[in-house]
Amino acid sequence: MEQINDKNEELERRKKRVKNLKHAIIITLIGVILIPIIMCICLLIKVSTMQKQIDQLYEMRENIQKEEQLAQEEAKKREQIEAEILASRLPETTETDEAVEQEGDGRKKVYLTFDDGPSTGTEEILAILRQYNVKATFFVVGKEDEYSMEMYEKIVEEGHTLGMHSYSHQYSTIYQSVEDFAKDIERLEKLLKEATGEDVKLFRFPGGSSNLVSNIGMQEFIKYLNDEGITYFDWNVSSGDATSKSLEPEALIQNVIQDVGIYRNSVVLMHDAVDKPNTVEALPMLLEELQKMDVDILPITEDVKPIQHIKADELENK
Ligand SMILES: [Zn+2]
Repeated sequence: MEQINDKNEELERRKKRVKNLKHAIIITLIGVILIPIIMCICLLIKVSTMQKQIDQLYEMRENIQKEEQLAQEEAKKREQIEAEILASRLPETTETDEAVEQEGDGRKKVYLTFDDGPSTGTEEILAILRQYNVKATFFVVGKEDEYSMEMYEKIVEEGHTLGMHSYSHQYSTIYQSVEDFAKDIERLEKLLKEATGEDVKLFRFPGGSSNLVSNIGMQEFIKYLNDEGITYFDWNVSSGDATSKSLEPEALIQNVIQDVGIYRNSVVLMHDAVDKPNTVEALPMLLEELQKMDVDILPITEDVKPIQHIKADELENK
């Protein structure tokens, strides 16, 4: 009896050992097969997220390159316009000789012009001009708010000359076609008539008549102005306040004084714009310097011979 019991116990133990061995083998198998699979899945997930990040980086790089290209193109355009403006500053001896013949009293004449207004600086410019008893010319753009309408009126009331500088000042629109140009000018003419009661027949091209923005040639626009009886004025003296790096007031004054010394008749380009505080700051000292030079500072009137980079009357004869 005892022997049978021993045998049974032995059998039980053996079964247990086999069972334990089986468990150990299964656990080992699971370890050997499952862990690498899980690791592979983890790696795959990781690789795919990294791929996404790389794609995003590429996209970002492309966008940055596109933006840089656009900025470069714009800078090129600006440089072109500025080069034109700078080129226009070179003295033309014939201009001086002609002027000597024309002006009987032999006194130098200076016509100060302010482009791009009305701006928040217009009121201050007017106050300074009033203080020094000087009249100037304002080539304005189209703005219909109450302050701007008041400024158009004030310019005329205080004895300055009002001229047009296009309603929108958008090169891409106005220089697209003569139709677009005409529509823009008519709109500004109407606005200024409404604000001041005057028919404004003076004009300055945004960028000057020698700008290189238009693809169809400035002659077409000049013909339109001639037909409408509108006279355009460029300039032969530039303060340099339109260049991309903003010049100190002293430099602006120096630019003007130097060139006024060359010409009999100087049409001086300055800007009435919110981003040109140095022009306003320079104005009192500029007026003092000019008054010391004993020149006549005058507003542009109908009888003033226009300074034109592309001559309007030559065109008519063609
Ligand atoms: Zn302008």
